[in-house]
Amino acid sequence: MTIDGTTGVYGIIGWPVGHSRSPAMHNAAFAAAGLNKVYVPLPARDAGAAVAAVRALGICGASVTIPHKEGVLAHLDEVEPVAARIGAVNTLVVDGRGRIVGHNTDWIGANRALAEAGVDLGSATVLLLGAGGSARAIGFGLLAAGARVVVANRSEDRGRRLAAELGCAFLPLAEVGRCEADVLLNATAVGMAPLDHLSPVPESVLERFPTVFDIVYAPRRTRLLAAAAARGCRCVEGLAMLLYQGVAQFELWTGRPAPVGVMREVVFSG
Ligand code: NDP
Repeated sequence: MTIDGTTGVYGIIGWPVGHSRSPAMHNAAFAAAGLNKVYVPLPARDAGAAVAAVRALGICGASVTIPHKEGVLAHLDEVEPVAARIGAVNTLVVDGRGRIVGHNTDWIGANRALAEAGVDLGSATVLLLGAGGSARAIGFGLLAAGARVVVANRSEDRGRRLAAELGCAFLPLAEVGRCEADVLLNATAVGMAPLDHLSPVPESVLERFPTVFDIVYAPRRTRLLAAAAARGCRCVEGLAMLLYQGVAQFELWTGRPAPVGVMREVVFSG
């Protein structure tokens, strides 16, 4: 594409951002849709200064990643209600009046990945492993879609706190073998390097869960997913969540359906 005086500038705010797949994904999407837009890394140590820069420089929209998903909140003009409940945003949308609105598409990405795999969230029970930032966003999103959620986490205090906030049951991680659910969803760091030799649950319990979703995407086929596939479970990869959170961002920024096929190719081959 040719960059000119009217090119819309988007980017990813975080520290660091060098590893992100988002620039490749969004630039491919903008090009495929024939839009005069570019998406660039916006490395920033300070969340408030980054939001001020979005305003000052006329940046049209941005992704927000670690460590600023909570820190940007205080600097926004408005926060979409589910994102406000989660207490974290990963997307900034600049509206026609220059107001910056925060959204959270992480949970949308997880929900769409499950829907694509054929899970009916309106009637599903999900055993959610983890109580960190991702588990929190996904938990609120699952409830918003009508799912029943049970939280399990290594640290009981943290797990019970999240379960109480979500208004759902808590199960100690050691007791997941007692649980039966339509979906086992791993939102812990177990499976990602340096924990890539581990599974968050004993492999013997996997038969209880028809669908296993691991949001860890590096490696793509985690130990958990390999074991789940071997037991005949339907497997959902973390890359699908990464893809669909980006698809939702594209749709928020442009008001158009995203070129999902192009974005999928970039994300899954990256
Ligand atoms: P947090 O640091 O906020 O939370 C980490 C979670 O992992 C906690 O529940 C923690 O339990 C648990 N955990 C860590 N180590 C162990 C262990 N050895 N045994 C059992 N549980 C453990 O991380 P995030 O929520 O931000 O991220 C979690 C994972 O999700 C990461 O691997 C990340 O890459 C992935 N991710 C994927 C995305 C996608 O689009 N696919 C998007 C965002 C994140 P405890 O409370 O006991 O410490």
